[in-house]
Amino acid sequence: MAEEEVARISVAVRCRPLSEHERSNMVQSICRVMDGRLVILLDPGASAAHDYLRQDKSKEKRFAFDQAFGPDADTKTLFTATAEPLIKSVLQGYNATVFAYGSTGAGKTFTMIGTPVEPGIMFRSVEEIFKGVATVVDEGTESFSISCSFVEVYNENFRDLAGNSDREGILDLREDPVSGSYVAGIREIQTESVQEVMDLLQHGNQRRTTEPTAMNVTSSRSHAVLQVRVERKGNPSNPSGSLLGKLSMIDLAGSERAAETKNQGVRLLEGANINRSLLALGNCINALASGSHFVPYRDSKLTRLLKDSLGGNCKTVMIATTSPGHLSYEDTLNTLKYANRAKNI
Ligand code: ADP
Ligand code: MG
Repeated sequence: MAEEEVARISVAVRCRPLSEHERSNMVQSICRVMDGRLVILLDPGASAAHDYLRQDKSKEKRFAFDQAFGPDADTKTLFTATAEPLIKSVLQGYNATVFAYGSTGAGKTFTMIGTPVEPGIMFRSVEEIFKGVATVVDEGTESFSISCSFVEVYNENFRDLAGNSDREGILDLREDPVSGSYVAGIREIQTESVQEVMDLLQHGNQRRTTEPTAMNVTSSRSHAVLQVRVERKGNPSNPSGSLLGKLSMIDLAGSERAAETKNQGVRLLEGANINRSLLALGNCINALASGSHFVPYRDSKLTRLLKDSLGGNCKTVMIATTSPGHLSYEDTLNTLKYANRAKNI
C-alpha cells in the first residue's frame, strides 16, 4: 500500500485488567477482547457475568476496531502496534498524534505516561525517535535536534508542566506560519537522552492540577500534552533545507464529564469550559472521519494547539481505554461508542 493510502485515523481499544481492589470487592469483568479487534461488552444485568456461556448473548454489545487489546497486553505490545509506526513519518517531517481517551480510572495515564517500571507510550515514542535518529546519523551527513514541551490544558488555560514553580502562569496560544501552533512562553527542552524525558514526564505529571476538593488527586479534568519536535538538517537531497516533524501525545481528561454534559445540558459555564476541549476534539475527529471539509479546530484550546497535527498529512492514533468492571458499564459503553464513531475514515 502506498503511503498516501494508509488510513489516517486508527482506533485501538485497550481494556485494562481488574485491580486487586476490584477483585476483592467481587467486581465482575464484563469486557471481552477477541481476534485482536473485537470488543464484546456483556450486559451486567444479564445473568451471571462470570459465566460467559450462560450469558444472554442478545444483550451483549459488539464492536470492531482496527485493533483491540485485552487485560494481558502490556504497554510494549500496545506501543509496537499503534504508536511505533508513526515514528517513521515524524522522522520524515510529518506531524502525528496519539491520544488516550476514556473515563477516569480506565487507564489513560498508565497507557500514556506510565511509570519508570512500565513506561507509557510517551516515553517509548521518544525512545524510538532517538533510536531512529541514531541510525540515520550513523549513516551519513544529517544532523537532528529533538525538543520536547509538556503542557496541561485545564479549564481552557495552558500551564507549563515542565516549568519551575516560579514560572507559574497562564500561557497563550500563538500560530506561526512555519512551525505551526505553539504555546507562547512554554519551555522547549532540548533533549539529549531518554532519561531526561522520563524525568520530565514523572515530574510534569505530579505538577498537574489537583482537584480542589481532593488534594493530591490528579484532576480528571486536565489534559496533558507532550509534543516532541524533530528537526532534521543536511539531507543530501536538500542540503540547505530542513525537515520538521512533530509528534503530539495526549493523556486526555476523563470522558465521563463529557457524557454528562451531553446528557444533562450545560449547567455551569465552568462545566462547559472543563469539557470544551474534549468535546471539540471529538467533533474534529468526527469531521475528519466523515471526510467533512469543515473541521472545527477553533472551538477549543486543545484543538487549536493540535490544528497542524490532525487531518491533512497527519496520522492519528486513538487509544480508547476501558475499565473491565460491571460498575463501569455505562462509561465503557460510551467510550466504545465514541471510539466507533472515530473509526470510519
Ligand atoms: P486514568 O488516567 O484513565 O484515570 P489510570 O491510568 O490512573 O486511569 O489507571 C487507573 C488505575 O489502574 C491505576 O492504578 C493504574 O496503575 C491501573 N491500570 C491502568 N491500566 C492498567 C493496565 N493495563 N495494567 C495494569 N494496571 C493498570
Ligand atoms: Mg489519569
